[in-house]
Amino acid sequence: MLITATTALAKPTIYILATGGTIAGSGSGELSSSYTSGVVTVDKLLAAVPQINEIATIKGEQISQIGSQEMNNEVWLKLAKRTNELLNSGKADGVVITHGTDTMEETAYFLDLVVKSDKPIVMVGAMRNSASMSADGPLNLFNAVNVAISKDAVGKGVMVTMNDEIHAAREVTKTHTTGVDTFKSPNTGKIGSVFYGNVKFYMSPTRKHTINSDFDITKITELPRVDIIYSHANDNADFVEIALKNGTKGIISAGMGNGNPYPSVLNALQNGAKSGIIIVRDSRVGAGETTRNGEVNDDEMGFVASDNLNAQKARVLLMLALTKTNDRAKIQEIFYTH
Ligand code: ASP
Repeated sequence: MLITATTALAKPTIYILATGGTIAGSGSGELSSSYTSGVVTVDKLLAAVPQINEIATIKGEQISQIGSQEMNNEVWLKLAKRTNELLNSGKADGVVITHGTDTMEETAYFLDLVVKSDKPIVMVGAMRNSASMSADGPLNLFNAVNVAISKDAVGKGVMVTMNDEIHAAREVTKTHTTGVDTFKSPNTGKIGSVFYGNVKFYMSPTRKHTINSDFDITKITELPRVDIIYSHANDNADFVEIALKNGTKGIISAGMGNGNPYPSVLNALQNGAKSGIIIVRDSRVGAGETTRNGEVNDDEMGFVASDNLNAQKARVLLMLALTKTNDRAKIQEIFYTH
């Protein structure tokens, strides 16, 4: 292609906000499975993919340098506020966030609910560290920038781009501990694909997100404590009791099957609901809806049903819902619309 002054001027500006993770990890050798997350700086990450400078004006910023297993509310709020600022001031046409894969789905959903812009926000990571043979980070990053500059990506909320696929923030989850094809959207499937920079979308997320979501974090500096409690056969109520005693504001019950907790756990959860704590009945299964008033009578017990969010995403949504209301019916409505 002939590069003219006009095409050069027309290049979109994409900010790469780096947070750490395996994409910024480095190990002891090409074939070693041992490595440390988040040690490679944003400048080095970008230098590994010079091709992105041909399609966009790239600016890099280091938000944090952590493995995403260390992700926390403070980094989430910093990342969300910076993304809002960049997109709404007109400084950026799109934002790409490099992130560890462990909690990428939680950060993606958090941002999807609180960023007030319809410009593309693309999260990307890697399953193989930068020193590994066939590292997947550089091509994933190249693809993520291509999604961020795509006109078709406008209005799709936060997306996760990995392994040539584009997933919507609400739907995507990590499904394999080591495979490069780890990210899947079990309830809906991917929304698009990106093959060596060639972006194609097949569908759009329909739940409320970004400019249409109910949440605004402009004035928020802290998020309420919400715990996840995982169910199993021959369970006991200890973790529920400890969470209640330690001041939790909400519990996501990752129940068996269609959200069924063990009897003693159910009893403890009901006591929690009676004392005003919001209990969201969810499932440990990983796909499908936890249906209201199925084997558990949510109306009678005072519970909220999670719709088809997995437990870690239900936790994100409940934290944000609790910044607005403590009313169970309103929170149930939030779960059915976001
Ligand atoms: N533990 C790493 C992280 O989430 C794994 C990865 O990035 O793939 O930061």
